[in-house]
Amino acid sequence: MLKGKVAVVTGGSRGLGEAIAYKLASMGAEIAIVDIGDPAKAQPVCDKCKEHNQGKAKAYQCDVSDFQAVKETVAQIKADFGTVHILVNNAGITRDGLAAMMKEEDFDQVLAVNLKGAFNMIRHCAGLLIRNREGCIINIASVAGLMGNAGQCNYAASKAGLIGLTKTIAKELAPKGVRCNAIAPGFIATDMTGDQTENPLLKMIPLGKMGEAADVAEAAGYLAVAKYVTGDVLRVDGGIAM
Ligand code: NAP
Repeated sequence: MLKGKVAVVTGGSRGLGEAIAYKLASMGAEIAIVDIGDPAKAQPVCDKCKEHNQGKAKAYQCDVSDFQAVKETVAQIKADFGTVHILVNNAGITRDGLAAMMKEEDFDQVLAVNLKGAFNMIRHCAGLLIRNREGCIINIASVAGLMGNAGQCNYAASKAGLIGLTKTIAKELAPKGVRCNAIAPGFIATDMTGDQTENPLLKMIPLGKMGEAADVAEAAGYLAVAKYVTGDVLRVDGGIAM
């Protein structure tokens, strides 16, 4: 379904990004992983993507919050893969704390990675997507951006901002044939969420359990090919934000 397409996945060396990379590769896409860590760490993920797509997969070290570094990384991806058809803005961080006590740098850092990072990637990939007159952007937001979450004012603001960014980009790029959607995961078991067995919020999930990375990857696979869907926010949350 995605044979001949090139997908860029930020934060693709583990967690949701890793699962999304496998899903898109299994649909035939070539995969460029953009991650802040050592590319050697992402090599096993690239190897597995290549088993899935029987094609290319490569990792790039880049801090998505750095405008110039993103520009150079996208130029390198263009040189290696020729173009970009699918961009998944998944890289994200948390620096939790109550607003009344939060350090300025913790607020700024979360906004810089989660929101400006997505803008930086879109800013530098948009020309390639537009030139193809097709393609899609998938931004990994969060139910925190829909509902708010005590202790996460920085994170919730970044994810709510990402939803506003998604809808605006969807409107700007629709005439060029490029779609933009967001996924709002709820509680998904990854390194970011850690051990949540005692979290009282789990009892509020109508489906009664945490989600798996593969559940979010399924949604990304759907949005990658949903050719009449743009500007949407797809919740993958067991119903918690219903
Ligand atoms: P994770 O396990 O912590 O993985 C985050 C990934 O992002 C890692 O590969 C990390 O690289 C990379 N990264 C961090 N800062 C970066 C930067 N400045 N530039 C480039 N890459 C960077 O997180 P996750 O649980 O998979 O979450 C992925 C996304 O889903 C995030 O945007 C998160 O907010 C969102 N989300 C997650 C959940 C959940 O329950 N897990 C729920 C809602 C939304 P390193 O490995 O090198 O640190």
